[in-house]
Amino acid sequence: MTRAEAMLPLPGGARVAASFSFDVDGESAALAADENLGASMSAMSHQAYGPLVGVTRILQILESHGMKSTFFVPGYTAVRYPNVVRDIAAAGHEVAHHGYHHVMPTGLSVEKQIEQIERGCDTLEALTGERPVGYRAPMWDLSWQMPLLLAERGFLYDSSLMDADVPYRLGALNEDGSESGHSLIEIPIQWALDDWEQYCFVPGLTELGPIQTPRNAVELWRSELDGMRRFGGCWVLTNHPFLSGRPGRAAALDALIGEVNAMPDVWTACLSEIATHYSTLEVTSHSVAPIRDRGVPESD
Ligand code: ZN
Repeated sequence: MTRAEAMLPLPGGARVAASFSFDVDGESAALAADENLGASMSAMSHQAYGPLVGVTRILQILESHGMKSTFFVPGYTAVRYPNVVRDIAAAGHEVAHHGYHHVMPTGLSVEKQIEQIERGCDTLEALTGERPVGYRAPMWDLSWQMPLLLAERGFLYDSSLMDADVPYRLGALNEDGSESGHSLIEIPIQWALDDWEQYCFVPGLTELGPIQTPRNAVELWRSELDGMRRFGGCWVLTNHPFLSGRPGRAAALDALIGEVNAMPDVWTACLSEIATHYSTLEVTSHSVAPIRDRGVPESD
């Protein structure tokens, strides 16, 4: 069976599982991309806006809708802004793992990947009292080793891959490609449902532009949701508080949450709830082997 398999039953007979998720990068994403950006007080202030202002505004909006969300927090952000993480948890939202230094796992040895996982878990647990059960790779750049490293450490789900419309069980492979017997629920995402491509402009970090209006961003996100209401799917929107916490964008997000909340065919939940729901169903397990030898002849 392919990953276009029929929708599995959702609570209330919904066609779509929907989640508003937030990646609280703060300074960490910019510093991981280019340490020299740390010399720019302006660039750092742009990133700090998320935990300093954006998160509080987003928490108020979510509370007004009675919406529970998932906040992916790098350990470094949690250390710099511990009260922000406490506020997120105290409001009843899920705090999930987003690396420690927001370094892309694909650039790290297995030992360094493990260190980033465990350091992030320890940091979040010290603030919230709970070990995270969900993971999203920094820059959405999951390594081939990471499913096994996460599953071995008790994670319930990952949300970094883009090869399906609905959650599925991801079988974790050993280094030699054999089945490990471990698995995770994978909750797929996609770049069209990310505010980074719409809003993020930081000289030296992104080459994107022009900055889109909230109207354009919401139109794109809504069109994907409308498609999923027709075909079925799991709609996971990712917003960054340093981007979507700005007033005009937050107002547009507020309106969108209200619209989605009112859709009778859409079940809204945080990602751990969605993963828990799928983990109880007979979900087909898929594993994906790394792409190594494509049989391309060597040039002379
Ligand atoms: Zn991030």
